[in-house]
Amino acid sequence: MKKNIIYILLLISIFVFGQEPRKFFMPPSEKNIISTDLHIHTVFSDGVVWPSVRVEEAYREGIELIAITDHLEYQPHKEDIPNLDKNRAFEIAKMFNQEIDRNDYINFKVPNEKLIVIPGVEITRDTPNPGHINAVFIKDANEILQKDSLSGVIKANNQNAFVFWNHPMWSQRDNGIARLADIHKFMIKNKLLHGIEVVNFDTFSEEAFSIALDENLTILGTSDIHGLTYWDYQIDLGGHRPMTFVITESKDTDEIKKALFKGQTFIWFNDMIIGKEENIQPILKSNIVIKSNGYTKDYTSVKINIKNKSCVNFKLEYLGKYSFYKNSKFIVVPKYGEIDLLIKTIKKRKKIDLEFKVENALIGPKTSSKVKYSLLLY
Ligand SMILES: [Zn+2]
Ligand SMILES: [Zn+2]
Repeated sequence: MKKNIIYILLLISIFVFGQEPRKFFMPPSEKNIISTDLHIHTVFSDGVVWPSVRVEEAYREGIELIAITDHLEYQPHKEDIPNLDKNRAFEIAKMFNQEIDRNDYINFKVPNEKLIVIPGVEITRDTPNPGHINAVFIKDANEILQKDSLSGVIKANNQNAFVFWNHPMWSQRDNGIARLADIHKFMIKNKLLHGIEVVNFDTFSEEAFSIALDENLTILGTSDIHGLTYWDYQIDLGGHRPMTFVITESKDTDEIKKALFKGQTFIWFNDMIIGKEENIQPILKSNIVIKSNGYTKDYTSVKINIKNKSCVNFKLEYLGKYSFYKNSKFIVVPKYGEIDLLIKTIKKRKKIDLEFKVENALIGPKTSSKVKYSLLLY
């Protein structure tokens, strides 16, 4: 009798709650991948929503860490919200996050654990001196509000904040071409700047990507959301905001911060992943899984199965000498899907090496990552 009740409850819960939420990407073994958005506005600067809405959005979209980063200096709602204590937006978001029951969001894609909300600010200066700079993991926003160009950045660094250059590709300057000014070179040389946005809102910058690689800055993609993510990214139609994934040893907040300083990130933007080769490679290896199902009965071809465990439709180009029975060298492995290939090996082989270019896994400007697999055939 008891067993029956448990069984019925299980059926009801599957019916009510639907499927288990899917992971965006499978982490490499013994690592974690944390989904983040480190650039978010509220009514406490030029955004149009209360901080608690940012927390709800993050739960609905499966984001595990957000930073509230209102402009310190630009306060267009000052008449209605005097905002004397610049830490308030963060405090409200944090308080709301502690109070809500994550089970209320179970119908949406949710992370397994509680959302982490961290404090931040956007230090707002004229472009390019040095333009807009975000500081996250700060201790006190009020202290960072300073008059001249660099003292806010220095104060943030004194608080051990992680500091990055926002939207260096802004069209207001150099027609959208990101370029280091002397002040940025100074900041990089003195370790005052640790990261750079390669993706901001709906823009992607190959020049910013080059700067990140040349100067060894952490690669970031953020929403810079001011309105509602549901409107800007059509979340209800399956869209998503740009996310930075941080590859960490554990889910501990200090470990996430450490990993950001070490540059262990990649971006999910539209249907692409973008990052340093050393971070993209293990992600491709843990998400594109290839196995051999042996030769067909007449030994004319080998059956290969390619599984994609991620949220990206991987676009592969086969780089080897063989040809396929049914496909061209261009192959799309759909997100969370799989495909079968028949490879014509001419004569019977024990082992086969396969190499693919992954068109939408970018490791540099106009450069895609490659993956190699060695398969035993029987
Ligand atoms: Zn900005
Ligand atoms: Zn902003």
